[in-house]
Amino acid sequence: MEMTAAELWEHIRNAVRESIPDHAYASWIGGVAALALTDDELVLEAGNRFKAEWLEDKYGELLEARGTDILRRRLKVTVRASTSPDAFAPPSVRLDPPAHASTAPDGSRDAPRSWAHPGPSMPLEDARSPRPSLNQRYTFERFVVGTNNQLATAAAGAAADRPGRLYNPLVFYGGVGLGKTHLMHAIGHQVLRNNPDARVAYVSAEQFMNEMITAIQRGATAQFRARYREMDVLLVDDVQFLKGKESTQDEFFHTFNALYDSHRQIVLTGDRPPQEMEGVEERLVSRFEWGLAVDLRPPDLETRIAILRRKAEDEGLVLDPDVIECIAHSCTTSVRELEGAVIKLLAVSSVWNKEITPDFARRVLDLRRREREPRQPQTSPERIKEETAQAWRVRADALSAKTRTRSVTEARHVAMYVMRHVLELPLAEIGNRFGGRDHSTVLYSIRKVEQRMEDDREFRTRVSDLLQTLTGTPADPMVH
Ligand code: ADP
Ligand code: MG
Repeated sequence: MEMTAAELWEHIRNAVRESIPDHAYASWIGGVAALALTDDELVLEAGNRFKAEWLEDKYGELLEARGTDILRRRLKVTVRASTSPDAFAPPSVRLDPPAHASTAPDGSRDAPRSWAHPGPSMPLEDARSPRPSLNQRYTFERFVVGTNNQLATAAAGAAADRPGRLYNPLVFYGGVGLGKTHLMHAIGHQVLRNNPDARVAYVSAEQFMNEMITAIQRGATAQFRARYREMDVLLVDDVQFLKGKESTQDEFFHTFNALYDSHRQIVLTGDRPPQEMEGVEERLVSRFEWGLAVDLRPPDLETRIAILRRKAEDEGLVLDPDVIECIAHSCTTSVRELEGAVIKLLAVSSVWNKEITPDFARRVLDLRRREREPRQPQTSPERIKEETAQAWRVRADALSAKTRTRSVTEARHVAMYVMRHVLELPLAEIGNRFGGRDHSTVLYSIRKVEQRMEDDREFRTRVSDLLQTLTGTPADPMVH
């Protein structure tokens, strides 16, 4: 019996309805639509990225099991975030490739659709074009300004309104989760709002390298260069990744010069000020110093409170001022941490249907433990990769490559797991950091690690040693 995606979804929903609480069903499954059904995969669509990840994470296996029963063949269930405007939508502006790039030398057309990125939860299926994948939520309107980021915000606004004229390059630096990427996207949005025809590219340094390598392999370096050099605004995230990557630095140096010479705006982010970037060539560092470098610092208490209010409001979550205060007092290192707290409360309150009191919040967020423990040293995705590679005795760059040897695959899965649990990065972002793997691959890898930690003590010890190295605190790897 062949079914449509909608029919199958209807059957699965009915089948799981019994096994989960009503409010959980209403929150997580009720509004979800079926998008597509292939031989072995059902694709669902949830209202936003958070719901999509939650559904896949918590109920994915259940849905797959029921679907497999119904179809009598193995079914994989993946959940995408809706691309409607209030979720993580593609930019509403037109983002066309430069005219000359629309026909490749081999005659094939590079369709504009591959240029406009469908949204952060989609895999990167084609590394040839720089994709301006601006997160719709990373706008100036949604950026809470405090003393920690005032200067950076002002510089970002100025650069967006007069690209290439004032600060070139504009460099944001600072620790993880402090808003560097957010501000960078905000510049992109504002430039496009001011001038919908502007050519804006957003790329992580890592993606830049991967695209370069692909271009070399395909003998398409000329196109690769031309595309970046045609940009009005080039946003390059996490340039610390260039550390030690000489040929990528060389390529980037030339791109930089070409753009700079024609007064195009360049915006960079990094984990430290340019002059402290080790492993980056002197000539490149000196270019980075030509413009303005501003740091982003951890938010102070007032800013943390303002951010929490704002995030709760955005998520439609009513939070008592005492609860806000209590989170603001204990989550001090990054904005991502604050955001994570709100999201967790949202999830828990809607699943358990419980009122959020300060005490309840403390328990859910495990704040007491945090209050007792020394502050975790900050770690970064790069460091996670490096430490994992070292612990598994493989090369760090193999983790982002296509290498499939057992030890590399295992190390890759572990690094993904650690990134998810220590930095709480979105699945899609983790995928991007591992050479453009899609979010369901990442989820699968993380589940594999979790499973193995349950079954294999030695493995569990290795992972928790790694966590301890990275966070400096005795790890509790079973906390999800
Ligand atoms: P970084 O690039 O510095 O690691 P991000 O820009 O990814 O940090 O920020 C982490 C998260 O915190 C993002 O979801 C971002 O929207 C949010 N965020 C950071 N700073 C602010 C702020 N000042 N106001 C609102 N949200 C913020
Ligand atoms: Mg960032």
